[in-house]
Amino acid sequence: MLKFESFIFNPFSENTYVVYAESGECVIIDPGCGTPNEENQLFGFIDSHRLKPLMAINTHGHIDHILGNAAVKKRYGIPVAAHPNVKGDFQRSLQQSQLFGMSFNGECELPDRDLKDGEIIKVGESTLEVICTPGHAEGSISLYAEIEGWVFTGDALFCRSIGRTDFPGGSYETLRNSIKERLFHLPDDTEVLSGHGESTTIFDERKYNMFL
Ligand SMILES: [Zn+2]
Ligand SMILES: [Zn+2]
Repeated sequence: MLKFESFIFNPFSENTYVVYAESGECVIIDPGCGTPNEENQLFGFIDSHRLKPLMAINTHGHIDHILGNAAVKKRYGIPVAAHPNVKGDFQRSLQQSQLFGMSFNGECELPDRDLKDGEIIKVGESTLEVICTPGHAEGSISLYAEIEGWVFTGDALFCRSIGRTDFPGGSYETLRNSIKERLFHLPDDTEVLSGHGESTTIFDERKYNMFL
C-alpha cells in the first residue's frame, strides 16, 4: 500500500503530494514549491524518510503546479512527466509567473517524459494509472491509485467545485465530460485528492457538486 504526504505551497495554496511505497520509491505530484523554505519542507520530508524519487508528475501545466519542477530535477536528477498537450501552458509559464509576480528562476523546461491515457506508473508494488481529464487545461491528467482508492485530480475536480475553464485551452464542456465520463466511473469511496483545498470522495461529488 502506498502512503502520501501533502504540502500547501506558493501564493495559490497549491497541493503538492509525495506518494511513496514501503520500498522508499516515490513520485512527486505537482511540485509547487517556490521558495527555499518550501523546498526545504519538501526535500526535508523526502530525505528524512529516505525516499527515492522516481519522477515528478505534473497534472497540468499551470505555473502553480510546475513552479518547483526545476528544483526537484536539480535535487534528485529525476525526469518530469506530463501529458504532451501541456506544452502550450509550459511555454506560457514564464509569462504567467511574471503576471502573478512570482519568482520563477530558470527556464520553463518542457517535460522530459510523455504520459498517455491508460499508462500505468509503478511505485513500489502499487500503481498509478493516468486518466486524461482535460477541460481546465490542455493535457490535464488525473492519477488513479486503484489499490489505495485514491485519485489525484489536479484542478479538474475539487471538493464541491470544479476547475476554472476561462484560461487558454479551457472548456467547460470538455471538463464536464472528463469528470462525468472518467472520474465519476471510479468507485464511490475513491478519495479525491485535488490540486487545491480539501479532499472529498467520488460519491460526495457525484451527489453534491453543483457545478456539474
Ligand atoms: Zn490549474
Ligand atoms: Zn492550480
